[in-house]
Amino acid sequence: HDYTKDDIRQMVKDEDVRFIRLMFTDLMGSIKNVEVPVNQLDKVLDGKIMFDGSSIDGFVRIEESDMYLIPDLSTWMVFPWGDEHGKVARLTCSVHTSDGKVFVGDPRNNLIRVLGEMKEMGFSNFNIGPEPEFFLFKMDDKGNPTTELNDHGSYFDLAPMDLAANIRRDMVLELENMGFRVEASHHEVASGQHEIDFQYDNAVVTADHIQTFKLVVKTVARKYGLYATFMPKPLNGINGSGMHINMSLFDKDGDNVFYDKDGDLQLSQTAYYFLGGLLKHAKALTAVCNPIVNSYKRLVPGFEAPVYVAWSASNRSPLVRVPASRGLSTRLELRSVDPSANPYLAIASILEAGLDGIKNKIEPGEPIDRNIYHMDGQERKLDHIENLPSTLHNALKAYEADPLMKKAMGPHMYQNYLDAKNMEWNAYRQNVSQWERDRYLDML
Ligand code: GLN
Ligand code: MG
Ligand code: MG
Ligand code: MG
Repeated sequence: HDYTKDDIRQMVKDEDVRFIRLMFTDLMGSIKNVEVPVNQLDKVLDGKIMFDGSSIDGFVRIEESDMYLIPDLSTWMVFPWGDEHGKVARLTCSVHTSDGKVFVGDPRNNLIRVLGEMKEMGFSNFNIGPEPEFFLFKMDDKGNPTTELNDHGSYFDLAPMDLAANIRRDMVLELENMGFRVEASHHEVASGQHEIDFQYDNAVVTADHIQTFKLVVKTVARKYGLYATFMPKPLNGINGSGMHINMSLFDKDGDNVFYDKDGDLQLSQTAYYFLGGLLKHAKALTAVCNPIVNSYKRLVPGFEAPVYVAWSASNRSPLVRVPASRGLSTRLELRSVDPSANPYLAIASILEAGLDGIKNKIEPGEPIDRNIYHMDGQERKLDHIENLPSTLHNALKAYEADPLMKKAMGPHMYQNYLDAKNMEWNAYRQNVSQWERDRYLDML
């Protein structure tokens, strides 16, 4: 929606909105918000709301900490709860520095920058359809999440196996009330695991949606005394949670440039080059698409998550799949991404990799249409199939080794991200875990 300031003023009156949440996302992907009462509306609309950026992860130093929140009026949404104190609305903001410049450490600004590179190459839109998965856990008396699941349903199960059907329906209704177009929701393979898919939209809108989606899912779960987590691999021995990213490029005429009715598999040369870029940069991208130590416990064989760098139109084990639909919905599905990823950084990096493929005419090689999990190391070697990084540490090495990442993140965030993630890895590396004691203590 292209709302004007007056439209917003009108909607505030019509819907009796009392509070406005000014949202943005920090480097690590956490949603941040400043909530202001509606008497601040004019200040909000004029972009005069300031905050101290020095305490936000990966933002700025103390000396240059005053920052402005410039709302993107098209992101106006009213949250469907909070009636007793008046309604709450959200506006997603662009962070600007005190001298009025676009702040380069704001992941959303960075995505808009990379989309600018895309437009210079003659494309108009990068469309993204995400498939976020999550677990529902019971909470204890103190309201802390436990690891006790609330049901033992499995893929596409219905009640009574799927005890969470009502909760999920409630989530979908709340999302629809806010203007989301939900396409499907279902129980996932693991006990207590669910997926809600919403309709594709352009990259920035989708990244904003992902952030709001997490908030809504967590809020609704809490109403039922449950904790919704987007942790990639909360439990041993069962599937983890991914967030498959479906993507396509559109041109100015509204055509999907990945589609070519005469191409191999009805894919265009552009789609093949984009795919080539994704595969070439796959290892480095993993550091952003799978950003936490726990992400790598999901990327192991046997749990429907990708482990190898390959693509296919007919098999789901590779990193990139080409779903069957063609025409306007022709798309590539990157299956490595998990919901702990900062959606703005992940999408910007994915796009930068694909555009690099187009610019440098990178061929993706032959598809691997067999189940890669069933191939042994020798067979994979013959087919030149490489592994995705097995740990955050290995992913960070790939990130540093690939010059594309600095372009994708911008120099400011490139370095801050690397430093923060190395610290995270070092904290993990120094921790002696229960697994080690169980394995070694009485053996040595
Ligand atoms: N949960 C699986 C993953 O980790 C995906 C399962 C599915 O969507 N088929 O990616
Ligand atoms: Mg799905
Ligand atoms: Mg799924
Ligand atoms: Mg999928």
